[in-house]
Amino acid sequence: MDARHLLDIESLSDADVTALLARAQEYADGRTAPDLLRGTIVFSLFFENSTRTATSFETAAKRLGAQVVAWARTASSMAKGESFGDTIATLLAMGPDAIVLRHDEHGAPGWVAAQAPCPVINGGDACRAHPTQALLDALTLRQHFGSLEGLEVVICGDIAHSRVARSNMALLPRLGARVRVIAPPNFMPQALPDGVQGHTDMDAGLAGAQAVMMLRIQRERMDAADIPDAAAYHAGWGLTPERLERAGLGAVALHPGPMNRGVEIADAVADDPERSLILRQVANGIPVRMAVLDLLLRA
Ligand code: ASP
Repeated sequence: MDARHLLDIESLSDADVTALLARAQEYADGRTAPDLLRGTIVFSLFFENSTRTATSFETAAKRLGAQVVAWARTASSMAKGESFGDTIATLLAMGPDAIVLRHDEHGAPGWVAAQAPCPVINGGDACRAHPTQALLDALTLRQHFGSLEGLEVVICGDIAHSRVARSNMALLPRLGARVRVIAPPNFMPQALPDGVQGHTDMDAGLAGAQAVMMLRIQRERMDAADIPDAAAYHAGWGLTPERLERAGLGAVALHPGPMNRGVEIADAVADDPERSLILRQVANGIPVRMAVLDLLLRA
């Protein structure tokens, strides 16, 4: 790996992306390495809630023989008034071999990486980046379609507040996909990366899509007054089987989770075994995170 940490997609070289996806596919195909990281300790520091990312990093580390120390803000001395800086200094003094960190502040993993003697892996920071999610999305799409070259990918929902959208807009075009986004006007970012088209109308934006990635409304990142009515949102921007059918022949649905059923996605899409890649995404989280830990810790 050229990169010493995994902070965002932008700081990975093309060679890093290629190596990570190749190693992840090997793990997905059944490669095992139960002793690879034996003797190492990974700190899993989640300053923000998580179901998939936290458990999947922990599982990945254990599958490679590492030991995991899981820490959660709510059970920590931050509840007694300890600052983020003192918490990090304390944890670094214990000498972990790697840190996985999620935080609701922009750039927190980079701030920790600047002082950590070990690799720091971003498990999601604010609306900025969620690099392992984008890598597992890319792996899932590549497994399903064979290649991302020329693939029409639509990311739909609360783009403005989504670190998943940002990391995917950075990664998927590098792998050859054509990426566009659909969002209600108030959830459309002021600027989109070069080459990424924005649509506010769901049906126009979906035309010709092969993969549709739905995102939830990030309620925790907005004022209560800006949270749309669930039924009206579903009518305008929810993914229903009819809409997916109209999007394109064989179009598939993705979602990073957690899903808000009946808001951004209908049950009949989420649970459609032919059209939904959602649980495949979850499963791919493990080989992707095994690849990240493998290549960063052994560099
Ligand atoms: N689980 C993803 C994230 O942590 C998506 C979401 O929370 O909506 O960003």
